[in-house]
Amino acid sequence: MRIVVTVKFVPDLQSQRSFTDGTVTRTADDGTMNELDENAVEAALQLKESLPEGEAEVYAITVGGPDAVAAVRKALQLGVDHAVHVCDEAIAGSDVFGTARVLAAAVRQIEKDGPVGLVITGMAALDGLTSMLPTALAAQLDIAQLTLASTLAVADGVATIERHLPDAHETVTAKLPALVSVTDEANKPRYPNFKLIMAARSKPVTTLSLADIGVDRAQVGAMASRTTVIEASPQPPRENRLKVTDTGDGGTHLAQFLIERGLA
Ligand SMILES: Cc1cc2nc3c(=O)[nH]c(=O)nc-3n(C[C@H](O)[C@H](O)[C@H](O)COP(=O)(O)OP(=O)(O)OC[C@H]3O[C@@H](n4cnc5c(N)ncnc54)[C@H](O)[C@@H]3O)c2cc1C
Repeated sequence: MRIVVTVKFVPDLQSQRSFTDGTVTRTADDGTMNELDENAVEAALQLKESLPEGEAEVYAITVGGPDAVAAVRKALQLGVDHAVHVCDEAIAGSDVFGTARVLAAAVRQIEKDGPVGLVITGMAALDGLTSMLPTALAAQLDIAQLTLASTLAVADGVATIERHLPDAHETVTAKLPALVSVTDEANKPRYPNFKLIMAARSKPVTTLSLADIGVDRAQVGAMASRTTVIEASPQPPRENRLKVTDTGDGGTHLAQFLIERGLA
């Protein structure tokens, strides 16, 4: 079985963000693999490791500019078998539908090597944070989607997830092939060890253009985008902040603060 895991290259959340024409200004030196995608990679690796040797292969895909290759390289360091980077200047400015179209075409490209049983995504990309991509990708691939999985098990061609909602715990199943988005509760991502880091250096990354995966340039990118960013502005500095130096009566100050505002 082939397991595809999607990993997004996102700006470092600690860095100062700015916008150009309504889009995030991205620089080469401050990007990283979306942290929540570490859970997706871990879920794929655990599933592979639960199967007999040689029965599963894990592919990591990213869609993004030249720097985005760092995301799949990180996935290689974590232990995935294959890395695919879809990179084409015509993708710039794509919205979720365009991104999903490209990812779906890349999954179909992988299917030429053999069937893909499972596509695993993170629960959200920490820059866009829409959580729309998993649904859009499942729709493009015309497969079932199991979203926000806190657990994932696969047996007899069926994927089973548990989804923890504020007022309910759901157990949902779908026949493979299916797409599963996993939450940060799903597992504890592993750290790349030295051996894997060294091994990853010699593993190839397959770079694909839109032409390679048969996507029409007119169907992606800013011109094809169904959504438009009307305005983007930096977060204003916080005002009315009160700083209390604790000289032993900090607790009293805190209690007074809450009482005065009717919060206690
Ligand atoms: C080259 C490029 C240019 C873009 N330009 C613009 C732009 O100009 N304006 C704009 O508003 N948006 C732009 N985007 C952002 C794009 O719209 C989002 O990537 C897309 O909508 C997904 O939404 P999200 O980031 O909220 O992901 P979510 O839906 O929150 O992500 C959920 C999961 O989907 C997967 N995923 C998401 N994106 C990718 C990806 N690119 N590669 C692999 N896996 C992924 C990850 O596993 C992630 O955890 C661009 C994206 C790319 C790749």
